[in-house]
Amino acid sequence: MRSLRGDRMTYGWPVAPFDRQHAVRGFFCDPRIGDRGSKAFHFGIDVSARDGTPVYAVQPGTVDLEGEQNIAVVEAGGDREHGYWHIVPAVRHGEHVAQHALLGHIAKGWGHVHFAERSGGEYWNPLRDGALTPFSDFGAPVVDRIVAERRGVPLDPNTLAGVVDLIAEAHDIPPISAPPPWHGMPVTPALLRWRLVRNGRAVVPWRIVADFRTTLPPASHFGAVYAPGTRQNHPNEPGLFRFQLAAAFDTRRHPDGSYRIDVESADTRKNASRGRLTLTLTNGLL
Ligand SMILES: [Zn+2]
Repeated sequence: MRSLRGDRMTYGWPVAPFDRQHAVRGFFCDPRIGDRGSKAFHFGIDVSARDGTPVYAVQPGTVDLEGEQNIAVVEAGGDREHGYWHIVPAVRHGEHVAQHALLGHIAKGWGHVHFAERSGGEYWNPLRDGALTPFSDFGAPVVDRIVAERRGVPLDPNTLAGVVDLIAEAHDIPPISAPPPWHGMPVTPALLRWRLVRNGRAVVPWRIVADFRTTLPPASHFGAVYAPGTRQNHPNEPGLFRFQLAAAFDTRRHPDGSYRIDVESADTRKNASRGRLTLTLTNGLL
């Protein structure tokens, strides 16, 4: 039972104090879009801390120097490891480290440690309940906008016809804000779902578009989750998270009339909020 596995693996923070919540400026599965167009889900969380901040092992294990500034600590048995990226190592490859042992210091220019958990060959969301502790989140993510588009051009929801793309823009704000230039930057909700309602009845029942609550989806799913126009955060430049509710949604499959799209977004702690869009299908007028 992999869902149970996570529940008994509580661990503290990789920066001091270990038993206090720190600012996280990048969430699990935030969009990561390279300069050359590479697209990936962020496979860990970015814990904000100044360059030079000491980084410590959350669990004991054996050091695997995966790269010049990337350290993994593999637990005994080898099934689970934690990754600590962008740090100047203070440990050697193959060294055994105790819990809370110093691993290194945050490298110049990074301002955060990228922290990841890998178990059973998969990356897990460290912010799920029962993992990184303490972590509390109180505000719900927000659905900013729901839009019907065709080839990236927004359509009038009062006269929708033919095949359209349904997109929702949503974001969450970390419970503790990172300092500038990452202050107030959005992060992704952990769950996003939608439904189509007509006369109080769901004609398209809840469909989950994004579920980042436990494990990392394959990178090949990126385009089915994040719609074109999605941008990642850059310093002083907030990203835009556009979720693909339905690509090429054929409105002709539903009778003309008035409908409502409900979109719900939630975080790992089940804080949730909804957005809605009223729309009218008018295929008969064509
Ligand atoms: Zn990261």
